[in-house]
Amino acid sequence: MGAKIIDGKAIADEIRGELLAELEELKGKGVQPGIATLLVGENFGAKMYQGAVEKFCGEMGFAYREETHPDTVSEADIIKIVESLNADPNVSGILPLRPFPEHISDSAVINSISVNKDIDCFHPFNMGKLALGEPTFPPATPAACVELMERYFTSEGIDPTDGFEGAEICVVGHSNIVGKPVSFLCLNRNASTTTVHVFTSMKGNLEKHTTVADYVIVAAGVPNLLNAGQVKEGAVVIDVGINRVFVCPQCSTFNRAKKDPCRKCGADLAEAAGKTVGDANFDELVGKVKAITPVPGGVGSVTNMMLARNTLRAARITAGL
Ligand code: NAP
Repeated sequence: MGAKIIDGKAIADEIRGELLAELEELKGKGVQPGIATLLVGENFGAKMYQGAVEKFCGEMGFAYREETHPDTVSEADIIKIVESLNADPNVSGILPLRPFPEHISDSAVINSISVNKDIDCFHPFNMGKLALGEPTFPPATPAACVELMERYFTSEGIDPTDGFEGAEICVVGHSNIVGKPVSFLCLNRNASTTTVHVFTSMKGNLEKHTTVADYVIVAAGVPNLLNAGQVKEGAVVIDVGINRVFVCPQCSTFNRAKKDPCRKCGADLAEAAGKTVGDANFDELVGKVKAITPVPGGVGSVTNMMLARNTLRAARITAGL
């Protein structure tokens, strides 16, 4: 039997409907939720994300405030801007878009964001609450993984609480943004969670952990890292990775760049097609696992909805509701 493909887009649409109803209720009480982005300099990725957040706010019916500044601005001035965002009742959530230029300290900026407007859980106070299992703003991507699992459980007739309790969950990747917080979110739901460090993989021990897991959440940023030999029959795979690759026209190997020859067969990649893939070898795994999220159309689709959910929660807090 083939794997169930967990449809992130359909789940995101479902959540959007739920959140829009909540938004209407808030607007009825005179509360307009909104997001502010803080961008300094010309980093391409950060600028792309700024545009995406602006578009997303328009689609959700959120207010949007853009704070974009040249890289000549001082750290002190950026902190003053954060303070003005903290004080603005129309800004429910603040998103610092990193990287910042070298003279601006990440932690100085993040520590100056109001903990009640920290909608992607960057502030150490909120990360601490997350680790302790206390209510906070769970970071969007880890929250999307858990949401997908909960909705998957429900679709299988399993109570989401039961689904997590006692489950063996293996998280591959240990970043502060995804790997660590998703491990905490699973542990807080009474799962046994293993977080695989890159050093473990380098020592050849990745599969020692992944093959015993009921659920593998892979968030390493390495295309095709997880293959069929590394999971047990009937496992469920949540693939967080988003990797842009170029497919070799001769041997189909994924390459990171077009300018070099194929890393496997040495073929010229000038005509290689670009493709977005996850960290899991989808084509291999789909014949072995019970369920898997696709890329695109999996975790990434739900991530924005988790940010929107946090924005509504922040708007309630700011409005004293
Ligand atoms: P990141 O900051 O690059 O972190 C990846 C982590 O995985 C690092 O700790 C890295 O260690 C570790 N790692 C690398 N290779 C590994 C291996 N073979 N075994 C175990 N750990 C390994 O990336 P991230 O922000 O966590 O994101 C992870 C992936 O998810 C990326 O592909 C990113 O594009 C994607 N992503 C998707 C969404 C979404 O909404 N779907 C959101 C955010 C990120 P080192 O640092 O030592 O290399």
